[in-house]
This record gives sequence, C-alpha cells and structure tokens, in this order.
Amino acid sequence: MIIIDGSEGEGGGQIVRNACALSLATGKPFRITNVRGKREKPGLMRQHVTAIEAACAIGGAICEGVAVGSSEIAFTPGRVVAGEYHFAVGSAGSTGLVFQTVLMPLLLTGGRSRLVLEGGTHNMLAPPFDFIARAFVPVLRRMGARIELRLIRHGFYPRGGGRIEVEIEPGTLTPIDCIDRGAPLSVSATALVAGLAYEIGKREIETVRKLLPDWPEDAFAVRQLPEEQGPGNALLLEAEFEHATEIVTGFGKLGVSAESLAKTAAQRMAGFLESDAFAGPYLADQLLLPFALTGGGSFTTVKPSQHARTAADIIERFTDQRWTFAQQPGGRHLVSRR
Ligand code: ATP
Repeated sequence: MIIIDGSEGEGGGQIVRNACALSLATGKPFRITNVRGKREKPGLMRQHVTAIEAACAIGGAICEGVAVGSSEIAFTPGRVVAGEYHFAVGSAGSTGLVFQTVLMPLLLTGGRSRLVLEGGTHNMLAPPFDFIARAFVPVLRRMGARIELRLIRHGFYPRGGGRIEVEIEPGTLTPIDCIDRGAPLSVSATALVAGLAYEIGKREIETVRKLLPDWPEDAFAVRQLPEEQGPGNALLLEAEFEHATEIVTGFGKLGVSAESLAKTAAQRMAGFLESDAFAGPYLADQLLLPFALTGGGSFTTVKPSQHARTAADIIERFTDQRWTFAQQPGGRHLVSRR
C-alpha cells in the first residue's frame, strides 16, 4: 500500500486525481491522509468525489472514505474496462478534471470508450475544454492516442449544465520528445459571453488588443453564447505553433473587472510568447502523467510549477521513475526521466 501525505508539495486535489490514475494504471493500492491539506478548506470537495467515483467506475476499484469533506481515502484498484461511461459533476464542478483522472487508464486498456461528462466546461482553476482539446490532447495524439472530443454545451460556475463527449479508440502509445514549439502559425483572442452583457467581452478584447499589439485585427472576437448557457464569461487567448498550442484563459468572476482579467491573461500569454518552451505551466503539470505512463520521452517547459513538481513526486511513488526539471540556457526547463 502506497501511503501519501496529501498536504505535501502542492497539497491539493491534483494529488488525488493523479494517484487514482496511477493506481489504476499500475494496479497498486494507495492511501492518502490529509487530503488537500494545503487548501483553506481541506478535505474532498464535490468535484474530487466525482473524480474518485469515476476512477472506481472505470477501474472496478473500491475506495474507502469517499465523501465531501473527507480527509483520508484508501483506494484499491481493480481491472480497468473500456466502455461507455456517463459522469455528472455536481455543483458545476469541472468536467476537465474528471477527464484528467480517467483518460490515461482508459487509453491504456486498449479498448474503445465513449465518455459523456456533464458539469462545468470553463471553470476557474481547471483546464477549460478548449485547453484540453487543442493544447493537451494533440500532444497525446502525437504519442499515438486516438481521442476525439466535442463540446456540446458550455457550462460555467455556478450553474453548470455543460456537456462534453469523448471517444477513445484503441492504439499504442510511444514516448515522444517535445522540445521545440516550431514556427508560429496563428493567434486568437476570443471572449465567451453567456447571459451577460456583450460589453464585458468587448472590454476584455479591447484590453488584450492594446497589450498584444502585434496580433492581427482578425484574431479578435467576442462570441455570444445562448443566454441559457450562462451566466458565464471566459477569455481565451490562443497561440498555435507547428508542434504546440498554448491557451491562456481568464475566467470572469464577480468583483474582477473585465480589464483586470484581460490584462492578467495578456501578460501571461506575452510571457509564454517570449519564452521558447514547448509547454506552458499548466500543460507541463498535465503532461507528466501521460509521459510517465508511456515510460519516457521529454518536453520543455517554462519555469516548473509546484503542481508539476508534485505530479513528478506522486509518479515516483507509483512507478519508481524519477522525472527531473533541468534548466537550459535561455531559461526553459527540460522535463525528462533520469
Ligand atoms: P484544489 O482546490 O485542491 O487546488 P483542484 O482539484 O481544483 O483543487 P489543483 O490541484 O489545483 O486542483 O489542480 C488543477 C489542475 O487544473 C491542474 O492540473 C492545472 O494544470 C489545471 N489548470 C488550472 N487552471 C488552468 C488553466 N487556466 N488552463 C489549463 N489548465 C488549468
């Protein structure tokens, strides 16, 4: 039994999701104490409960202590079975985080799966659908994965109601090296507005236009979604390169002005564009699991986050693989297996 102190490193929900995925992929049981120990409100939240339940459903696993507020869980994996699964994340929890938990175990079973995920599709502190579909999944396709995703309906906090459908086809995954992002291909800035004033999106776009003056006129758009999908607002800044795509997202929330949200997103995008790394900070922490489960490969990233370092620690506990972050001349970091 692998024992993990959930307050170590990043000390959040990602430890739980990665441990579930790794346990299903390796067949090793685990126990986590002090679940989300570094968060203001520790213990499992609704969306973590759904992620664990999803892992149990696809993997014939048994998990003790799965309840909102629980600070200790014990997970015993079973056999992962490809198939049709439907998971609804209550209280507009992130569908992307449930996807993160079940994707790798399902990919590795080799069968065909179809997932329907309902809940939030554009949540703060989680990968939005666009990021998963255009930044994360394309890297897995390069490894040989065959994954198709569709966004059927947007879902924003607190109402939720979003829907994502995923098809996973059997295929063999092989390690890859993702060192350079390649030549720039396109950029775009899209403000999504649902059930809120169009003006909010317009102000976000105006702010980004000033801060990223080299971006062409036709890169900017406000997209109004059907009223009933709101209220919600997200600003998506996307830069596509030959081999990599980065998407920086600003999430609209009460008390944060359109200008300030857009400024933060534009500055983060400018920072990524200045570097020559393959992966931005979020992509890096999310790629560690698939890279480790194919057994090797490497990628470059900007300064590694605590999330990425913690993912590497959890991976080591299950696989004995040590993933290191070596700074290269110019500032980017090479993430590879020692
Ligand atoms: P907690 O409340 O414990 O922090 P959590 O389960 O919501 O819980 P984290 O442990 O912080 O989450 O993990 C969040 C995950 O979402 C990480 O994998 C991170 O890369 C990803 N993520 C967060 N924000 C974004 C974003 N804007 N774009 C892409 N991915 C994101």
